[in-house]
Amino acid sequence: MSDILNDIADAVEALCAGRQHSEPRWEWDANRHRKPLDPYRTIVPGLIQQLREIAEEGATNTNDSGVHSVPESSPPGAFDAVALIAAITFGAAWRVSWARDARSVDITVRDTPEANLSAIVGVLNRIDSEAQRDIRAEVRSWQRQAEVLTGWTQPPIELVAPCPVVDSDGHGTPCGARGTLLAQRDGSGARCLACGAQWDETTVGLLLAHVQRYTEASKAAAEKVRLKVRAEKEAARDREAEARRRRRSAA
Ligand SMILES: [Zn+2]
Repeated sequence: MSDILNDIADAVEALCAGRQHSEPRWEWDANRHRKPLDPYRTIVPGLIQQLREIAEEGATNTNDSGVHSVPESSPPGAFDAVALIAAITFGAAWRVSWARDARSVDITVRDTPEANLSAIVGVLNRIDSEAQRDIRAEVRSWQRQAEVLTGWTQPPIELVAPCPVVDSDGHGTPCGARGTLLAQRDGSGARCLACGAQWDETTVGLLLAHVQRYTEASKAAAEKVRLKVRAEKEAARDREAEARRRRRSAA
């Protein structure tokens, strides 16, 4: 497959296909060595299905009298999710009828955006490359918007501390990398880009405690340096004053 067809297939898979998400887990033994546990596996639905779930949360958000609540109290993103589902549903159906009418491809419009997108992937090799590029731009744009709405691409926060992993390879090599600890904004997890260690909501507290200790230790070290510099400056001033006194008394 060409790059374009691969790109389209990847974006469509992210939009439509559920995937298994495997979260590595670790525990620390008494010597603070990291030991792998069985990964925690969950099935994550495709992005379009995730958007439906966000949209439904908004639609079922009613008050006691059964009246739909004011938009302000809907979960953030519910309205955007509805709008994006509509855009994908319409866009995918339009692409199928375009392929049928403008490119004489034997294809029929299906009921769901997922089915229409899969149908398009199935006939891509009968569509000219210029139109393939248009389709790639469409599906990537939908994927990007859906990822933002479902929170996958929320930029993580960098924790300022060296990675605390004591055993990064099973042979006792510590990680200690700097600038590689990234945490989720909601505090639900973190990872090290250097050694691949991951902390989930049950272990992330250990990491945050480490970061706090490191911050306090480096604050204390910085304070020590500051005091030392000040003392050196004072000593230099004293020496200068002493030298001036001597020159005066010698004159
Ligand atoms: Zn690390």
